[in-house]
Amino acid sequence: MHAASSHPHARAAIVSVGDELTLGQTLDTNSMWLSRRLTEMGIVPVEHVTVPDNLDAHARVLRDLAARSDLILCSGGLGPTADDLTRAALAQVMGDALVEDPIALAEVEAWFSSRGRHMNMLNRVQAQRPARAVIMPNLHGTAPGLFATLGERGRSCDVFCLPGPPRELMPMFEAQVAPRLRLPEGRTVRTRVLHSFGLGESELAHRLGSLMERGRMPLVGTTASGGVVSIRLRYEGHAPPAEAERALDDTERLVREAAAEYIFGRGEQRLPDVVLALLRSRGEVLGCVESCTGGGLGQLITDVPGSSVSFAGGLVTYSNELKTRLSGVPESLLAEGGPGAVSEETARAMALGGLSALKVQHCLAVTGIAGPDGARPGKPVGTVFVARASGDGEVDVRRFLMVGDRTSVRDWSCKAALAMLWQHLSGLPALKLIRQV
Ligand code: AMP
Ligand code: MG
Repeated sequence: MHAASSHPHARAAIVSVGDELTLGQTLDTNSMWLSRRLTEMGIVPVEHVTVPDNLDAHARVLRDLAARSDLILCSGGLGPTADDLTRAALAQVMGDALVEDPIALAEVEAWFSSRGRHMNMLNRVQAQRPARAVIMPNLHGTAPGLFATLGERGRSCDVFCLPGPPRELMPMFEAQVAPRLRLPEGRTVRTRVLHSFGLGESELAHRLGSLMERGRMPLVGTTASGGVVSIRLRYEGHAPPAEAERALDDTERLVREAAAEYIFGRGEQRLPDVVLALLRSRGEVLGCVESCTGGGLGQLITDVPGSSVSFAGGLVTYSNELKTRLSGVPESLLAEGGPGAVSEETARAMALGGLSALKVQHCLAVTGIAGPDGARPGKPVGTVFVARASGDGEVDVRRFLMVGDRTSVRDWSCKAALAMLWQHLSGLPALKLIRQV
């Protein structure tokens, strides 16, 4: 391969590949995410192009964009089937033959064998690369990425081809692409992100005060998603990287001083990661009893690799009968005239019942009205009771009024439950959480 050029990656283009995108069956979130990450790093994405699973269309777009971009990030089309044509399109534009990469082949084989699965011949094509391209390993799936330089020295364009599934693309970007990017003109861009739960975005902004002023460097901004408010710190300037990191350290300290009791993590950490790590460090195990979330809490927790160390499992007690039979909720609570399935008393009984039925040190219970139907007098849609029982019977029960549709009520309920346990495990007081009433 000719020597990689050294001009900065000032102008970037994003290419998304797939019939499902051009036909409107899948929303192209990769372009959004990649553009956002590039922008954070000081690289300007100037074009987005979406192409179907068509070799000529793909190759034509790569050729066009390479002539006017410093960088192309391409996603999709790296799968094993006949409609996955990114390898071939890149090879065509480079004028290279496709060769089998022995290391990539070993990695694809290892991916299958570690899962007790047999690799078929189709997957073998995933180890192919254009002769002068470099393979980027995929730790989250079978499709390796590709990196190549198109064009002449001085007018060259680096191309990175990433797998379509966002869960594979994002980590590959961070591990393989970001370190290879050349930021424009002696500029240093450093970012950091902290995550909070419990305060609304404006309450958090109020606490952060002048830290969020636009003229400040490092810049501090917030983004809210499903109850989690992330605080983004960004240094952009001409300081050497070490100095930029120190400036971020100082700003992070000030942010934490302003909102420490709500900040649960940073970077890639999510609530379940943090809760599981705390449980693990204490050698304790969690269980859950779920009604309106139907197993969603268990899913969030078990999405984390290694969760089995600190998570025993859960009971999904959707019907009243199962609430009684599996988690020991007294029938009197559920009978006509009693407080009912969606009540503080029932949530408490579910958590205590789960604590003993599951033989765990902590149990989270959720019962509520996810909607759109089911509202009762005094209990509108979005009413959710979350209980945490720990040790020998200490219980924290809270009432929430969630907003939004069924999906968001259920999602927030899971996060609220995790946040209650996080407060407890972190030794924080039971601070009122957003939507708690
Ligand atoms: P592929 O790598 O082309 O086999 O894509 C595999 C899967 O990744 C697709 O079925 C989509 O679900 C997902 N995917 C591909 N491209 C995108 C995109 N631009 N945004 C979001 N998801 C995508
Ligand atoms: Mg595809």
